Amino acid sequence: MGRAKRAPPNESTTLLVGLASLGPPYVTDILVWYNMNNNYRQLLMQPKYAFTALVFTILLGNAALTTAETPIRIDCEFPGGNIILERIENSTVFVRPDLRDTKGNWFYWSFRVRGAEGGELTFRFNRNVIGVRGPAVSCNEGKSWRWLYGKALKSPQNSFTYKFGPDEKSVRFCVAMPYQKGNLGALFKKYSARNDFVVEHHATSRKGRDVPRFRFGSIRSEPKYRILLTCRHHACEMMASWTLEGLVDTVMANDSRGEWLRENVEFLCIPMVDLDGVEDGDQGKNRKPHDHNRDYYPEPPIYPEVAAIKQFVPKWSKGRLRMALDLHCPFLYGKSNVKGGNQSLFFVGNPKEDSFEKLMSFSKILEEVLKGPIKYDSRRNLPWGESWNTLKEPRMFARWADNLPGISIATVLEIPYADISGEPVTIESARALGADLAAAIERWLKRQAENQ
Ligand SMILES: [Zn+2]
Repeated sequence: MGRAKRAPPNESTTLLVGLASLGPPYVTDILVWYNMNNNYRQLLMQPKYAFTALVFTILLGNAALTTAETPIRIDCEFPGGNIILERIENSTVFVRPDLRDTKGNWFYWSFRVRGAEGGELTFRFNRNVIGVRGPAVSCNEGKSWRWLYGKALKSPQNSFTYKFGPDEKSVRFCVAMPYQKGNLGALFKKYSARNDFVVEHHATSRKGRDVPRFRFGSIRSEPKYRILLTCRHHACEMMASWTLEGLVDTVMANDSRGEWLRENVEFLCIPMVDLDGVEDGDQGKNRKPHDHNRDYYPEPPIYPEVAAIKQFVPKWSKGRLRMALDLHCPFLYGKSNVKGGNQSLFFVGNPKEDSFEKLMSFSKILEEVLKGPIKYDSRRNLPWGESWNTLKEPRMFARWADNLPGISIATVLEIPYADISGEPVTIESARALGADLAAAIERWLKRQAENQ
């Protein structure tokens, strides 16, 4: 529903990609033109281009035949897809992220290669948009993912080479491990029969999508505490969604932790604030005129999802909201041994008096309960006033939530895309971090009760 229209891949794509790979600038221009316009079918329907293609096919008979025998198709026609194919020279594919309405540069991309089985291709980007563990790779249409490199590199890259196995007819590559609306649907299905889990309509997106929210835990009676979880204010920050899922599963688990959390806490979650961006494969971050996480101030919000959060949450919280946690991913790569380092896990502080102190006490608890492979050191938290954390106006979700009645902690957790101090961020480790967050929430609430 409402997906941005892009031309479906077809045999014409194959022909043009094949011809462009032969190198004549004229054909390359056609390919660039045709990619920029996203209008493949129409292009080939124009007699002059169809004729040009035919002439090349005849003139370069052998090469064209080779193309026909080994058609390589590169596309992004699936949820979250994003790539601009510039040209192919021999076995090097020149690509770049589709920035769309992004202010400046960003690094999200996700594409599929078909018909390259048994071969080897190098993918060269226009910038360093590949993290230190290389691309995430999926050979089963996105059902499972792995990092290409077993060990983290010292620096980001602008290219990678992939040797396609003889049976790898369709391989996806992405800057990290995608989490789409389909993944969320699977999560909802898992708990659809439970009476302590409910999915609701949150808002209708600007492109007409039904943006969901869900509540779980103590939803049938007035809870002791309320906790608000948000994710994908920035569409591309998908690793955060795996952590969110790990947290939800831990709360829903049939063990003493899950039971205590469900008995005492009502969780509200808006899992994909920028659902349009998630599904269309937008960067989302630094969207013009401003992105979803810069839409809380001044009034009125320009995004329906943010307007709905501002309207619904104060009514729902009834003074029992204790924590608002907004899950993000930072920049693609960076340092691990500094405050707010992009290869470290860190919380972001607010300017309100004693809020950082409260955040630090929760952070210490997270350090105590940490069981998963992801390392966390509370000294990496980024206090207000340091590095980029200096925005004066309360334009961000966490700053807005920090003023809700009764709240103790409103913060952003930045979960790196690929690597934390040498430890890979994967679907499994990101989910394990979610479980650790749930454990920390339980201990933190219990301690608060003890101290009252
Ligand atoms: Zn973000």
